Amino acid sequence: MHVVTGATGALGRLVVEKLLDRVPASEVRATGRRPEALDDLVGSGVDVCRADYDDPASLRSAFAGADRVLFVSGNEVGKRLDQHQAVVDALAEARVGLVAYTSILNATTSDIVLAREHAATERMLADAGVPHVLLRNGWYLENFTMSLADQVDHGMIGASGAGRIAAATRADYAEAAAVVLTGAGTTAGEVFELGGPGFTRAELVAHIGRCAGRPVSYTDLSEQALTEPLLASGVPDHLARLIADSDRGAAAGWLDAGDDLERLLGRPAEPWTDFIAAAVRSAL
Ligand code: NDP
Repeated sequence: MHVVTGATGALGRLVVEKLLDRVPASEVRATGRRPEALDDLVGSGVDVCRADYDDPASLRSAFAGADRVLFVSGNEVGKRLDQHQAVVDALAEARVGLVAYTSILNATTSDIVLAREHAATERMLADAGVPHVLLRNGWYLENFTMSLADQVDHGMIGASGAGRIAAATRADYAEAAAVVLTGAGTTAGEVFELGGPGFTRAELVAHIGRCAGRPVSYTDLSEQALTEPLLASGVPDHLARLIADSDRGAAAGWLDAGDDLERLLGRPAEPWTDFIAAAVRSAL
């Protein structure tokens, strides 16, 4: 049985779909803390089960009989140490054969604040003796298409300088996860640093401008200076600080990746230029 946690989320859902391209539905279990959001999968033969990182009993049920599990990192930053420890404990108790955890690029060396909970989770898996592989995902390309119309009108701000950001689509990360989960050759202990060829913000903005048919400006700020306009635009304090900190980390190179994603996919990742061009077309 292949089990996916966080299947109510954007990435987990895509992984379930990619698994269904590879194994029968009867070998797929989609789990989440809101299993009612997975009801549509029941008709296709997928096993749906509640798995709440805050409820150890639900995790024990969800992992019963699991051979391979995709453990999707939670989205409640600051609460994840206890939540992820509960997941790891349940994975160890269920003696799952192989777990793939969605971490962050360069988790153990990066000084990006978001990397701390990921590095700690990687340690939990190792300390518990759970056979696992690490899917250290780069940024989603989708992160860069949420305010395109506004950016075309008013320009983009950031703090990533000349740092290369190896973003790729969620769909490509999901396919890579499905390849790892179903692959006969996947070996516990492997660490995949996943991302596309990537771009600097200057390259991204120049491309957005070309697609929009008018130049778009980019203003590179310090981490502190980036936090202020984010707060002023209504971004919550902790999120504004995390965004600015991550951009500072990108400038230092922590969000760059090699070619692990392309190797797992057996093809190039979707070109960021195509993805952005399509997003600009639909935003304007
Ligand atoms: P989503 O926010 O769409 O999905 C997160 C999933 O985790 C959801 O299914 C959510 O459940 C689930 N989850 C959170 N807390 C719990 C919990 N206590 N118990 C059970 N499930 C829980 O994020 P994505 O799918 O886009 O990304 C997956 C993960 O990757 C994120 O959770 C985050 O850790 C990380 N991430 C990576 C980014 C990147 O650019 N690489 C950007 C943003 C996040 P529910 O649907 O009920 O909320």
